[in-house]
Amino acid sequence: MSGSISRSVSLMSPEDGGGLAAGLPPNTPSKTASNDPSPLQLFVQAKKKINEIFREIGEYVDDSEKFLDSVPENIIPQETIKKAKDFKGKVAGITEVLERDHMKVAFFGRTSNGKSTAINSLLGEKILPTGIGHTTSCFLQVEGSKAHEAYLTVEDSEEHLKLSCLTQLGNALCEQKLESNAQVRIHWPVEKCRLLGEEVVIIDSPGIDVDVDLDDWIDKHCLDSDVFVLVSNAESTIMLTEKKFFHKVSEKLSNPNLFIIHNRWDCSAGEECQAQVRKQHTERAIDFLSKELGICTKEEAESRIFFISAKEALQTRLQEVKGLKPNISTEDYFTRYLEFQEFEKQLEYCLSSTAVKTKFAAHTARGKDIISSSGRMMLDIQDLSYSNKQGEENAKKELMDRLDFTERQLEMMTYEMKDKICAIVEDVEYKVAKALSDEIRRLSVLVDEFNEPFHPDPLVVNVYKSKLNQHIESGVGSNLKSRLSSDLSQNMEVQQKEMMDRMTALLPPEKQTVSRNILPRREAFEVLYHLNCENLCSDFQEDLSFRFSLGFGALMKRLMSSTQVKRRGPPGSPYASTSIPRNNLPPLTPDSPTFESFIPPQDDWSVLSKVAIASISSQGTMGGLILGGLLFKTVGWRVLAFTGMVYGIVYSYERLTWTNQAKMRLFKRQYVDHAARKLRLIVDMTSANCSHQVQQELSSTFARLCHLVDESTADMKEELKQIDRTIKELEEVCSRSKVLRNEASFLANNLDVFQRSYLDSI
Ligand code: GDP
Repeated sequence: MSGSISRSVSLMSPEDGGGLAAGLPPNTPSKTASNDPSPLQLFVQAKKKINEIFREIGEYVDDSEKFLDSVPENIIPQETIKKAKDFKGKVAGITEVLERDHMKVAFFGRTSNGKSTAINSLLGEKILPTGIGHTTSCFLQVEGSKAHEAYLTVEDSEEHLKLSCLTQLGNALCEQKLESNAQVRIHWPVEKCRLLGEEVVIIDSPGIDVDVDLDDWIDKHCLDSDVFVLVSNAESTIMLTEKKFFHKVSEKLSNPNLFIIHNRWDCSAGEECQAQVRKQHTERAIDFLSKELGICTKEEAESRIFFISAKEALQTRLQEVKGLKPNISTEDYFTRYLEFQEFEKQLEYCLSSTAVKTKFAAHTARGKDIISSSGRMMLDIQDLSYSNKQGEENAKKELMDRLDFTERQLEMMTYEMKDKICAIVEDVEYKVAKALSDEIRRLSVLVDEFNEPFHPDPLVVNVYKSKLNQHIESGVGSNLKSRLSSDLSQNMEVQQKEMMDRMTALLPPEKQTVSRNILPRREAFEVLYHLNCENLCSDFQEDLSFRFSLGFGALMKRLMSSTQVKRRGPPGSPYASTSIPRNNLPPLTPDSPTFESFIPPQDDWSVLSKVAIASISSQGTMGGLILGGLLFKTVGWRVLAFTGMVYGIVYSYERLTWTNQAKMRLFKRQYVDHAARKLRLIVDMTSANCSHQVQQELSSTFARLCHLVDESTADMKEELKQIDRTIKELEEVCSRSKVLRNEASFLANNLDVFQRSYLDSI
């Protein structure tokens, strides 16, 4: 052991000059004089560094948790979020432990071996009570405090007690002492003590020779200690009770760091057998550490055994603080002080490196585990969000194509359908006009079918007229219906079906059923041929007065019309009249000869016409006489008499056959002429109405289908917007997870660097 000291320090006495206040030489490894950084700085810096890393990890897990909360559920399973929350709790726990982590050294030994004195000398202050006999009644923990004034706290209480209470609480000689396993914490200002400022906590224990439960002690106060110092009395040897305690410690802790200081070495100063005693103590201590406890090798054990005088060291330190020389005259004092310094140095090295390893290695490993799990989680999220994004982009492309196709098809079909509807409408218009014209031509048949009894009385005629109007109205209507309806409705049905099929193909499957049900559930489409004959024929005025067919007026009319016919040209010519007005013809019975049979041939008319014209052109009686004389002279009286007789017979016949039936026939003829004229006027309007009805029907069906397609395109556009939003969200998730993954890698790298710098190098 002495060899190791001589290697590290040069043995110069204070009197040799060049020392500091304590009289030490400039090359002495004194903490006050040396510029070497304290070994404890390893722990201090490592703690600072790992705290920084864990603060960053804490921020990272906070960010990760916030990020995971904002990510849609379909991307992140619930257990991942739970895992992230667990990480947060774990990191918070580690950070909290790290904050409290310090180097802990515990002093054990029998009563009055000088444990408190040794601690005081390390602290450079007389903090703990010392004295002969059993002075320390309970565990006293000395730790640094940011407060400027020292204070005490006892277990389970936050109350700050005055330092003066320590004498009562921690001193075994006082009556108010605590139990031996109780603990009093002494909070000492860090600015007053280097050791405490460098995160060291020192524990002083009651003597292990006092009747105590060692297991309870160890469990309560020793398990988190980095180094144990056995303070033995150099005047005797290591006792069994001391050995027993450390046996128990090494059972509970694997490879505890144990230092053995043989205190009170000053008492053996000048003794002849000092060297033999030292040798004997050293051998026994080495055997105890390396063989009995087996916690280190023989060489390591050698470097953990010291022969010191805590009392002298304390005195020296107290004098140093005052800037005075130590007032110690004992032989070899300085050698013992040097050995004390060596003990201090070795203790600090061991404390620092052990604490860094035991405390931070586990935290580093756990930090790495958390960070790598979180990094993997972020990578999974990144991959999943990326693949989801790809899926959404494909869906968007498909939807856009479908939308484009639907819109183009709709545009194309709108043009097509417009043309088709126009063609159908024109066709309907033509068909209706043709059918109505046919019906008008066949109007007389329809009128003849009307069999209501007729009477020329005006009241009866009015009722008859009204019923006839209704008969014609329903007859023409039903005839048109039977001629056109089936054809039209079939055509309509075909067109509507084609329209529906083509439009339905543009709709998504779920809307296709709606589209197929869009046509109203009714019977086949019917065109309404409403004619309203009552209104049309409201101005019809029959003329049922008797008119002799060979009367003057009738003949004149016939003459005039024949002249008109001649003037117009032969029948069949463009000027020929297709209808011969019959209104003024005499009534005819069905069995009577037709009025044409009474009409003389064309050549005979020339004589008569000349006579008539002459008679018309003559003035009064003079003209009549001239005409009569001329006839008498030309044909003779017999012919005249015969003609007169025939004329009379015809007149009588016509007068006799002028019955109600004849009047009805005349009425019907007049009605047919009138109604046909009126109906001809409304042919265009009716056909236009019908075609309009068809157009309305087809257009409304098409409009309804278009509306469905429009709804479907609107849905698609909305869906596209939704997909865009999802893609944006996924992009954000992807990039954020990437950033977080990089952060995780960065933090893992920081932990690796920490491991290499502070853990692997020890
Ligand atoms: P503890 O009970 O183990 O804490 O012992 P203390 O530190 O209270 O010391 C008991 C007594 O031994 C005190 O009177 C000290 O002054 C004295 N003492 C401690 N260390 C030394 C030393 O190295 N040399 C001498 N001569 N006396 C010492």
